[in-house]
Amino acid sequence: MDLYEFQAKALFAEHGVVTQDGAVVNTADEAKAAAQKFGSMVVVKAQVKVGGRGKAGGVKLAKNADEAFDKANDILGLDIKGHIVKQVLVTPAEDIASEYYVSFLLDRSNRTFLAMASVEGGVEIEEVAANNPDALAKINIDASVGVTKEVAIKIATAAKFPAEIMDQVVEMLQRMWDVFVKEDATLVEVNPLVQTPAGKVIALDGKVSLDDNAAFRHPNHAALIDHQAEDPLEAAAKAKDLNYVKLDGQVGIIGNGAGLVMSTLDVVAYAGELHGGMRPANFLDIGGGASAQVMADGLSIILSDQDVKAVFVNVFGGITSCDAVANGIVQALALLEADGKKIKVPLVVRLDGNNSVVGREILKTANHPAVRMADTMDAGAELVAQLASGK
Ligand code: GDP
Ligand code: MN
Repeated sequence: MDLYEFQAKALFAEHGVVTQDGAVVNTADEAKAAAQKFGSMVVVKAQVKVGGRGKAGGVKLAKNADEAFDKANDILGLDIKGHIVKQVLVTPAEDIASEYYVSFLLDRSNRTFLAMASVEGGVEIEEVAANNPDALAKINIDASVGVTKEVAIKIATAAKFPAEIMDQVVEMLQRMWDVFVKEDATLVEVNPLVQTPAGKVIALDGKVSLDDNAAFRHPNHAALIDHQAEDPLEAAAKAKDLNYVKLDGQVGIIGNGAGLVMSTLDVVAYAGELHGGMRPANFLDIGGGASAQVMADGLSIILSDQDVKAVFVNVFGGITSCDAVANGIVQALALLEADGKKIKVPLVVRLDGNNSVVGREILKTANHPAVRMADTMDAGAELVAQLASGK
């Protein structure tokens, strides 16, 4: 889960990363009141989970409270790379002498943690990496050692931070590593880390991604979820513990096993090219268990997607045999209908693998009007794409 800047800064404050005060508000009036409270020049900052807000007009200085009102008015409602601004952060403005860059991240391709630092901060780090790679220090972090003072000095020295702020940067790096480890983050980035004319080092921006797989260790992270921004179908699926991702096509997909579901998306998209551009409407992996209840939950979510015109249930029986899956489908349809949900779209079912003959027989006997059978994955994809296109 990516955090908003204001949420990242709240975690920074908890772990001793020096940052500014701030107030998150929803209206220009509240921005004015916040600026009045700070009684200084302020910065009004769009809270959207996307970088480059400054360039897009989402970060503005305001000399006084009235100006804060105007700037908040300009920024609220702004569309920044497809994200509509609903909240702004008002912070006391800092004078800036220099802008730097520091981050810690999970480097999946190298199976390690990585620190990156540069004295060329403020601009997008991808630009520095492309145009001036020597200005970007990259230091691997040994997880069993972490960021000790020695490691922090190594990072700051490699990035050529000025001697007069070395101590502050070294402290800052260790506290950022605390955020990274103690909050189970996969990214902690500060851009810019600034040096004020008075020589103070402050995190002026903050970007944090939390590892959702560690959410069970952090009950307090639940409060950071932005429910308004969540897709309602994805939220419903999450509540049922389903592995569901909404996509923008017309063919609902259910399968067992992430790999099978991924390849199902491919074959459906491919078949759909010959049927008016039909595409997968979702990813849904019901996993090994495929019980009637899980099947019913999955179908229920897919069928409440207004874009879905046909559903492809693609199951390869393994530990869960096809007869159990077939019974699951039959019972799931009965459960949904008992719940008053009409099955208005066709369901193409392909069962293969363990006990598939018995599984198909069960579906044949049940003879549900919405269910069509397919012998192979490709044939199923072809049929479901054709049915979805309405031809
Ligand atoms: P981003 O564009 O989304 O990365 O948003 P940032 O929070 O990094 O802000 C963009 C830029 O606005 C920074 O690089 C600074 O140059 C400027 N900025 C942000 N806060 C302040 C501040 O308190 N004082 C001054 N003078 N400039 C600021
Ligand atoms: Mn920034």
